[in-house]
Order: sequence, then structure tokens, then C-alpha cells
Amino acid sequence: MAYQLIQKVLIANRGEIACRVMQTAKRLGISCVSVYSEADRNALHVAMSDEAYCVGPAASALSYLNKDKIIEITLDSGAKAVHPGYGFLSENADFAEICKANKVKFIGPPSSAIRSMGSKSESKRLMENAGVPVVPGYHGEEQDVEFLRKKAEEIGYPVLIKAVMGGGGKGMKLATSPSEFFDQLESAKREALKSFGDERVILEKFITSPRHIEFQVFCDSYGNAVHLFERDCSVQRRHQKVIEEAPSLLEDSLRAEMGQKAKQAALAVGYEGAGTVEFIFDEDTKNFYFMEMNTRLQVEHPVSEMITGQDLVEWQFRVASGFPLPLSQDQLSIKGHSLEARIYAEDPKNDFLPSSGNLLYLSTPQPTSEVRIDSGVTQGDEISVHYDPLIAKLIVWGDTRSQAMNLMHKSLSSYHICGLPTNISFLKKLVQNSKFRDFKFNTNFIPENKEELLHFAEPSNKDIALSSVCLLLKERHSVVSNKSPWFDLHNFRLNSEPTRNFHFLLEKDYPVTVTQQNNHFVATAGGEQFKVKGEYLGNSEFMLETDSSLEKWRVVQEDDSIWIINEKGEVHKLEVKQEEMSEETGPGKEIKQLSAPMPGKIVRIAVQTGDSVKENDTIVVLESMKMEHMIKVPRNAKVEKVLKKEGDFVKGKEVIITFE
Ligand code: ADP
Ligand code: ADP
Ligand code: MG
Repeated sequence: MAYQLIQKVLIANRGEIACRVMQTAKRLGISCVSVYSEADRNALHVAMSDEAYCVGPAASALSYLNKDKIIEITLDSGAKAVHPGYGFLSENADFAEICKANKVKFIGPPSSAIRSMGSKSESKRLMENAGVPVVPGYHGEEQDVEFLRKKAEEIGYPVLIKAVMGGGGKGMKLATSPSEFFDQLESAKREALKSFGDERVILEKFITSPRHIEFQVFCDSYGNAVHLFERDCSVQRRHQKVIEEAPSLLEDSLRAEMGQKAKQAALAVGYEGAGTVEFIFDEDTKNFYFMEMNTRLQVEHPVSEMITGQDLVEWQFRVASGFPLPLSQDQLSIKGHSLEARIYAEDPKNDFLPSSGNLLYLSTPQPTSEVRIDSGVTQGDEISVHYDPLIAKLIVWGDTRSQAMNLMHKSLSSYHICGLPTNISFLKKLVQNSKFRDFKFNTNFIPENKEELLHFAEPSNKDIALSSVCLLLKERHSVVSNKSPWFDLHNFRLNSEPTRNFHFLLEKDYPVTVTQQNNHFVATAGGEQFKVKGEYLGNSEFMLETDSSLEKWRVVQEDDSIWIINEKGEVHKLEVKQEEMSEETGPGKEIKQLSAPMPGKIVRIAVQTGDSVKENDTIVVLESMKMEHMIKVPRNAKVEKVLKKEGDFVKGKEVIITFE
């Protein structure tokens, strides 16, 4: 029978996964319809699609989760299928049914499979019946508190309490002893009710040194199933994955056994399409237990693609179009090793709290066949509070694990982001950690190594000194591009070389003095002197030359702060205390006029014609490079004329005030 590949698909998602799905769709000649919330009008996934429709306001509940609106757009656009990505509607059985009722192909399993696997209790009962081992525990309907306490006692502490409808690590609480049970149960129920509108829980034996090992499975509509091997996702914070890799340390025989159980699990619910069977692997006993099945394409699917050479989204399109599985189990094999790091807008120093803000500066390593970047953002985009804080995924491949790790470290070192806190520095520490490198870790790895992993260097004298030089280079560049003679503190008479003082704040004060001497700068910070030359390259990038090296720096200004990325790729954000200009005015020197030291906007003029001004009075405030500069009179004088007014833009060296 000849099958037809879907011709037009609607992608009911945003960000990196929407872009990733479209990449394959385009390669296969499938037209792509995207939907966007009002906040995403200018997003990459919209630009990439062939047609785009607004689906509602920023909040997901009103846009990307709006089932009726999405199906309406699908039908209007003529798309014959919906790809839900992950998150949002991907595991929503009601939505899968709405699609079916409207003769639109939902790219995923039947709604019945989503429903069975969506419940942590029902799925475990089904798995037990299908001969798949599950974590010892209680998965029944009875929710009486006293009954649950007895069950916990039987299971034996520590006991993990999980929300029946849970996901994303929510509604999951650990009771280490009977005395903690009630409090943790209450807390799990509260969270479950808030997040899933359902407070039922299950109890599980807590495995104390577990690895998270999951199998990628694929089924077609003819009852065939294969697995595309496993991923180790044990590196987690707050029960959420940070780094994933494939393959794991499993020996071949165990891999085959677990892979077989994973296929059995999928077939037991009449599965179709891509799915992931998550196991918890007990390092002490070498036992493995079914944990849950995610009935969708998983965030970390790229590592499986890298080691098998397959495109799982292509497989999804084929299976959804009625084709049988492209390959059989014995046609699949593992080649090399792949790692994925999730780059998140979050603050590792602050308990990994998600952050939001603008990507003021973004540069990534060069993608190659071994370095893959799945991202849905570009420089200037906003990471908004409305959605997932995932910025991008960095995926690497190597012949061996250590080669892949080196490539990951190198690639992370050339992944630069300013504008909001990210976990990049943390990820670099992770992949350099010896236990990580030795593959000796379980899901407790991050919590147990917090001290070491979360220790970040403070800005050094060099960081402060050289970024001040960058600020001057940028300023000089602005002046040059305004067709004025370069950087010159013309308004103040200069006996010696021009000197500028900068002052930054983080946990302490960081004063810097920069002096221009012939063709170089001498910057002094914390008693250390740095002699540098430099050039502004544009887009907040600088090339600095010291006596012994050539270094690329990035310095980005944002309101009252600067972001520094030094030559090693370390990021710091510092507050800028008002910048001052030092001036040299020998005795007897006259002052004729006051001009703008740099291009900018006049925020305030504190004098008018005829006023007498005293040495060091601030008479003009100029806003430039998003900073306010106080311009002071170097000596007593009388104002002859004020040539500009507040709100005016001035060029560098342009005269603002003349004196008698
Ligand atoms: P995984 O095991 O692949 O990390 P999760 O179930 O934790 O899967 O979620 C997959 C991804 O989808 C995560 O990045 C999660 O933050 C995101 N996600 C889940 N639900 C939503 C939602 N309603 N809106 C936006 N993102 C979501
Ligand atoms: P979610 O649906 O939120 O992803 P899971 O049941 O998949 O929840 O569990 C998430 C993570 O919590 C696992 O990857 C593992 O690190 C940890 N975990 C889950 N169950 C257990 C258990 N029984 N013992 C120890 N750790 C567990
Ligand atoms: Mg899970």
C-alpha cells in the first residue's frame, strides 16, 4: 500500500521544540502552520513557519493551552495534523480526542494511552499486569490518611509521596521517618491540588542511590515496537533533568532486558508514535523499576538521535501518516556518545530560581555535525515569565564519552549570554567535575556536591579593570561614529593624560582608574595595574591586547549595570556607581565653554544665563550609554549662554554652555 506523508501540519507549541519540529517538517516538504501568543509575535518559531496565527494573550492558559482555539485555527488553515511538541497539550487526552473528532491527526499516541500513562497509579497497575517491574509501594485508590501511614510503615522508610497526576517534579515529597509522614503528605497534597487539581497520591519506596535511566520507544499503528536505546538523566536539580546522555553505563544484557520491558510497557497501552519509558535503577541491587511513561517527544530526544543517526521527528511524521516503523530493532545500533545540556534562565546561586529578562547579548558556538544547538530565541528576545525558562539545548557527540565531554565543555565556554542569570557557569562546573567525568553519579549528585558546584569566583581586579577599558573603547567608538575627533575630554583642560574613574558594586566596592597614555590604556583596580590596547568590534564585543595575549571580551551595558564576559567566558553583573570624570585644570587656566564629553541626551541643565557657578558644581547631567554622567565645572565662572535645553541630544564635543 502506498502511504502519503502529511502535507500540512500545525505546531501547537513555541520555543525551541516548535523550531526543531519545523526543521524536519521543512526538510520533508511539509507546510508548517504556527500559532503564537501576543507575547510571541516576533518569536523565531513564527518567523520559521509558512503561516502563523495569533492564538491569544501571553498567559499559556489563554493561548498555547486553548484547545478550542487551536483546533479552530487548524481547521481554518487546512492543516491535517497537529504536532503538540512537549509540555502544553502534548499529554492532554481531551485534546487528542478533539483532534480525532475533527478528523485531524494528533501526532502522538491514542488518547486512551495518554490517559492510562498520565496517572501514576493506573499506569503502575497496568505495568504490574504486563510483567513490568514497578517500584514497591502503594498505588491504590484508598486515600485515608491513617491507611496511607500504615502503608508507608509496610513499605519502610524513607518513603516518597507522589501526586497521582504529577509531573515536572511537582507534588513529590520525601518522608524520611514516620514523624515526617503527615506533614509531607499534607504538603504533597497541597501542591498536587494547586498544580493538577487533584490531591490523590501514591507511595513509593525511596531508592536511596538511584540512577534515572529511560528508554526511547517507538511504535507504529501495526503493533510493531522498537526502542532506540536509553538515556541516563540522573543529573537533576529539584527532581528535574539538567544534563542527559546516551548511552548509559548499562551492560548489554541489562540493556536488552530493560529495552524489552520498555517495549512491553508501550504495547500494553496500545501505544503509537514516540514515547519514553522512565525507569529508576537501583545502583545497590541492580534492580530496575518502571517509574512513568512520557507519552510524547521528550526534551532530551536529541541525544538518542545523535547515537542512532535517526531523526525522531521524521519517524513521528511517518508513523502518523500511516507508514510502518522505518527500521526494525536489529537495524538499530549505538554509535559513539552524546550529551545534552539544558541552558536555562535560572540562578544557580539562588536555589535555581527561574529568571526572566532580555537576551541583551547572545552568542553560541558554531553548530557542526558534532555540535547541535536547539534553540528558539535570538539576541534581543525576551525570556518571559509566562513560559518555560529553557533558553536552548546544547547537544554534542563524540566517539567516546570523554571526547563528548571535552566538546561539551569547550562548547559551553563559547556559549555567552548577558541580560539575565543562566546556568551556563554551573553546567561548565558540572562537566568538569571528576565524579561526573567518571560516570559515578546518581540522582543525588547535584545536592550532594552543592558546595563545589555552586562556588563561583568573584570578579577579579583584571575583570574590573579591563571592562572599564571596554567602556571607554565603546564610548570612543560612539564618538568616532559621530564624525567627531576621537575621545577627548575637551570640556576640561588637560595638563596630563585624561583620566577616568569608574566605580562598580557587587558585594563590595570596585573602584577603577583608567588613564590614556599614547596608544594604550593603563587601568588600575585593587592596587593592580593593567596595560592594554584595544578595539571595539561591535555588538558589545572587544578585542583587548595585553603585553602577552590577545583576548576577546564582552561588556554589555544595561541601565545602571554592566555585564562582563571575560576572556575565559566567566560572566559577572556589576552595578555601576555614577561615573566621574577627573579633570586637570592648572591655576590661572580660563574656562570658556562646557561641551559634551560624549554623545548623549541632556537630562538636566542646572544653570541659566548670568548665573555664577562654583568649582565642582554639577551643572549638566548627560545620559549616555544608559548611564547618567554628572558634568561639573572645573572652576568658578559666570554663565554667558546656555545653548541647549533639557531633552536635547548632543554629539560628542558639542558645546552646551559658554562662559563669560
Ligand atoms: P522531561 O522529563 O522531558 O523534562 P517534563 O514533564 O518535566 O519532561 O516537561 C517537559 C518540558 O515541558 C519541561 O521543560 C517543562 O518545563 C515543560 N512544560 C511542561 N508543562 C508545561 C506547560 N504547561 N507550559 C510550558 N512548559 C511546560
Ligand atoms: P515527574 O513526573 O515529576 O517527572 P517522576 O516519577 O518521573 O516524576 O520522578 C522524577 C524524579 O524523581 C526521578 O527522575 C528521580 O530522580 C526521582 N524519583 C522518582 N521516584 C523515585 C523513587 N522511588 N526513589 C528515588 N527517587 C525517585
Ligand atoms: Mg519523570
